[in-house]
Formats: sequence, structure tokens, C-alpha cells
Amino acid sequence: MDLHTITAVRRPGSRSELALGPGTTVLAGGTWLFSEPQLDLHTLVDLGGLGWPPLEVTGSGLTIAATCTLRRLAAFRGPGEWSALPLLHQCCAALAGSFKIWHEATVGGNICLGLPAGPMIALTVALDGVAVVWPAGGGERRMAVAELVTGVRRTALGPGDVLRAVEIPASALRARTAYQRIALSPLGRSAALVIGRRGEDDRFSMTVTAATERPYQLCFPTVPTAQELTSALAGISRWCADVHGARDWREHVTGLLAEKIRGALS
Ligand SMILES: Cc1cc2nc3c(=O)[nH]c(=O)nc-3n(C[C@H](O)[C@H](O)[C@H](O)COP(=O)(O)OP(=O)(O)OC[C@H]3O[C@@H](n4cnc5c(N)ncnc54)[C@H](O)[C@@H]3O)c2cc1C
Repeated sequence: MDLHTITAVRRPGSRSELALGPGTTVLAGGTWLFSEPQLDLHTLVDLGGLGWPPLEVTGSGLTIAATCTLRRLAAFRGPGEWSALPLLHQCCAALAGSFKIWHEATVGGNICLGLPAGPMIALTVALDGVAVVWPAGGGERRMAVAELVTGVRRTALGPGDVLRAVEIPASALRARTAYQRIALSPLGRSAALVIGRRGEDDRFSMTVTAATERPYQLCFPTVPTAQELTSALAGISRWCADVHGARDWREHVTGLLAEKIRGALS
């Protein structure tokens, strides 16, 4: 839609030109920004001109630029020993938008929007992703994506902060993973998205998103018993209730999906 309050769109070529003051916000893919009125905004700052490489294989893992599109991420082919790579495509496919959304939506935009059904939140939390943040005041800050997203449409980013990238450690990419998702309709938004990960050292994690207001990562020294998993899930307090599913139903199906994953990775 046309954003009738916007009077300027800037496309900086360097960090020093970002200047994100009041009434100004970051434009990534724009798939959400242009989907509803933005009455508090007058200026958009397009990150596209910063020229960040979308995906970089480094000595310690994979760096995903905030501006990497879901299309690029889904098509990524990495080292053969990264057995978790199918999860990239699975999570991109969890965003049930059209091919136009896939081509434009970015990893950073999905995380910073902070929707419960944000599949890039699920992916990066499940793989122990570390967010690289450019604070408005300068410098660089690193924090787990699990800590960055704090609630529905809430993040730990301050005004003018920019998510630069997410770093995924190679150890998480070498793990075995299992993925389960449910929605109220075949093309509906995720109501529960659960990802299990079993590492080379046998450590096990279960990441719960979409059913909850913020991501939860439940960690275990090894594959838990069904009872241990049920107890850990019972510790989740912030179940989500909205048009995509009732709270008790989401809690119930999360338990079923998590148990399926536990079985698959046992
Ligand atoms: C049909 C349809 C279906 C959708 N389905 C889903 C879905 O299933 N799940 C879901 O989560 N979303 C969904 N969305 C919402 C949205 O398209 C996605 O969340 C998308 O990934 C947002 O990414 P973007 O790059 O387009 O972000 P934008 O729209 O450009 O930005 C989103 C927000 O993040 C901020 N932002 C973007 N990048 C950064 C950055 N690097 N640093 C700081 N702030 C930043 C922007 O200022 C804005 O507030 C859907 C949208 C449509 C139209």
C-alpha cells in the first residue's frame, strides 16, 4: 500500500549515514512495512545500499546478513557436514506468503518484527544464533537471538539500533535437527513451530515458537525422556492466543509435536 505519511526514502552507503532519528525507521524487504499504515513515520532508511554479503561461510560457522532474503537463504548450499542445512529451507517455507514475499522478505526484517510466527526467529534460535547489533550510539553488541526477541512485536533493540547479522556456530550446523509445524489452515500462519536439535556431543535442545509470545529454547544434556520433556514444556508461561489459534490448543499441539521430534532424534 502507499504510505502517505512518508516524505523521504534514504539509501545510505555507509553506517555513518544511517541517522535513525524520531519518525525514521529501517526499510528492509518492506513486506510488512508496506502492509499497513505507518502513521508515526516520515522517513524510511533502505538498508539495501549498505551492500552486505547475504551469506558468508566463516571459520566458525555461517554469517547471515540481516538483509539476506528468504529466497537466498532457502537456496543456500553449504559444507556437506552441515547436516542442519535442510532446516533453512523448511523455516523459509514456514512463512506462508507468496513468492513475492519470499523474494523480498529478509531475515533481519523477520526477526526485528518479532511476530510469534517469525520463522527466522525459530531457525536462528534453534541453531544458537547470535545477533550482531549496531547500537545507535556506535560500536557493536552481540546477544543470543533467543534474548533479542522478548515478546509479540517486542525486541531488545533500542531506538535507532540496527540488526547487522546473525552468526550461526558450525557446531549447531553439524547437529541433527527435526522440524514440526502446524497451522489452522493449509496456508495459514504458523500456530506452533517446534525444532529439535541433537548435537555431536549429544546435547539436545527443543525450540518452541509461534505457539508462544517469545521463543523458548529448552536445553538438555542428552535426549530427554518423555516425562522430562513434558516437565520442561510445562515451565513455559507465555503461550500465545490470537486468531491463529487458542492458547490451550497451541499448548497441547506443541506437546504432541515436541514428542514427535523427541522420537525422531532418539
Ligand atoms: C501475505 C503475508 C504473509 C506473511 N506471513 C508471515 C509469517 O508467516 N510469519 C511472519 O513472521 N511474518 C509474516 N509476514 C510479515 C512479513 O512479511 C515478514 O515478517 C517478513 O519477513 C518481514 O521482513 P521484511 O524484510 O519485509 O521487513 P520490513 O517490512 O522491511 O521490516 C519489518 C520491521 O523490521 C524493522 N527492520 C527490518 N530490518 C531491520 C534491521 N536490520 N534492523 C532493525 N530493524 C529492522 C523495520 O523497521 C520494520 O519495523 C507476512 C506478510 C505478508 C504480506
